[in-house]
Amino acid sequence: DTIGANLDRTVARFGDRDALVDVPGGRRWTYAQFGADVDELARGLIAKGVAKGDRVGIWAINCPEWVLVQYATARIGAVLVNINPAYRAHELEYVLKQSGIGVLVASLGHKSSDYRALVDQVRANCPDLRETVYIGDPTWRDLTAAGATVEQRELDTRSAELSCDDPINIQYTSGTTGFPKGATLSHHNILNNGHRVGGLIGYTEQDRICLPVPFYHCFGMVMGNLAATSHGACMVIPAPSFEPAATLAAVQQERCTSLYGVPTMFIAELNLPDFATYDLSTLRTGIMAGSPCPVEVMKRVVAEMHMEQVSICYGMTETSPVSLQTRMDDDLERRTGTVGRVHPDLEVKVVDPATGRTVARGEPGELCTRGYSVMLGYWDEPERTAEAIDQGRWMHTGDQAVMRDDGYVRIVGRIKDMIIRGGENIYPREIEEFLYAHPKIADVQVVGVPHERYGEEVLACVVPRDPGDPLTLDELRDFCAERLAHYKIPSRLEIVDSFPMTVSGKVRKVELRRRYGG
Ligand code: ATP
Ligand code: MG
Repeated sequence: DTIGANLDRTVARFGDRDALVDVPGGRRWTYAQFGADVDELARGLIAKGVAKGDRVGIWAINCPEWVLVQYATARIGAVLVNINPAYRAHELEYVLKQSGIGVLVASLGHKSSDYRALVDQVRANCPDLRETVYIGDPTWRDLTAAGATVEQRELDTRSAELSCDDPINIQYTSGTTGFPKGATLSHHNILNNGHRVGGLIGYTEQDRICLPVPFYHCFGMVMGNLAATSHGACMVIPAPSFEPAATLAAVQQERCTSLYGVPTMFIAELNLPDFATYDLSTLRTGIMAGSPCPVEVMKRVVAEMHMEQVSICYGMTETSPVSLQTRMDDDLERRTGTVGRVHPDLEVKVVDPATGRTVARGEPGELCTRGYSVMLGYWDEPERTAEAIDQGRWMHTGDQAVMRDDGYVRIVGRIKDMIIRGGENIYPREIEEFLYAHPKIADVQVVGVPHERYGEEVLACVVPRDPGDPLTLDELRDFCAERLAHYKIPSRLEIVDSFPMTVSGKVRKVELRRRYGG
């Protein structure tokens, strides 16, 4: 199926059920209304001269229009380019030029950024950009009104000519380890992945999914939106960008059955002073993904948020994204100790990066993925594509992993984040897990920083529970002394308020390392 054909099926089966709820805006759509608005917008894009294969940019924080644009572009076979809401002028210009965006749909701004001013600033350098439409402004109404000038038959004809293997989406990676890369994905890649992610959670038209994760990222648009629409479930937008209190309030108000987040989001929700006052009893499941989840946090999510069936997913933008996922009947040990097992119709293996040979189960190595979900390539960057996808079509993830005897996979860390101190390999994740249990630590990141004698030394960056009484280096050392090998014990401690984050909620360890001399 194409994404448009799949949506038609859902509209036909579940037309009167809720499709989309915008909690801050107080707006809601049934599937019948959603399908009609998607079509109107798709006809508007045709009226503006957008054809199959043309790039349409979307630059906005979460809002219903984001989702409408996602499906309207898919319907006519235009390539949606997700633009990070945090971008400033030079990054915006890079993406506009790199992907050759002709029509840009943007919101008016985000935080202190005025998007209109930023677009005006870069426009002269972006010859492909011929039109910008702003959500919540007359240009948006013009676009939808233009839909009336194009016949539905014209849209249906164009939809029928699309192929599942056409590129439909360019998603830039999070930029956790450097400059983002534009993963180019087809209908087949992301629709099938979203459908399978939802299938493994058992989504039906009864489910209501609270989505505080950005649509700009595959977590929101594929694991959220496509998983929902392909099973007739409802998408709930709690706030334009992540706010812990608004998220829990939306779960309560909309009686959500599922809640998404990266671990840092769940940590922020659990740490709200009035956490206990929210009624979260309708929750049964959700997805935690994107970065490793501390065991203590997972236990609280299961016990205090009622998410007994929370699903752990592992993936990357380049593989649409999910390749490993826990199953509904997995016990807490599997949900906390691993990121699940291989997805249906995909293959994974763990190799020795030096030789490319598959290592024995239980041994660490680089995780590789193969199958329908592997991207078409990085947009207009054949060399980087060739570095990431080998001759055998295996995507090399850059993540260090261990496959257990039961086929469940543990992510040990990113190959790039591994600390090598005096010849010993140290995995920051292991030390972070251990430190989470310290009563004075609210959040912690461990990175390697340069050291004259050892090459690298271990630095712990700590967000204290009580800023008035932060942890000292001696306390940290004492805590570690009995249970960690001496070379793993952090020799430096920095107390911080927060960590540098990507918009998708991941800590940018590169940035942390740089701050402390790395
Ligand atoms: P960039 O590639 O630009 O440096 P990124 O890799 O963070 O950024 P994404 O595609 O958003 O961009 O994230 C994929 C990465 O996220 C994976 O390679 C992995 O390191 C990490 N990840 C995803 N899910 C999990 C998980 N459940 N547990 C641990 N790590 C995860
Ligand atoms: Mg990556």
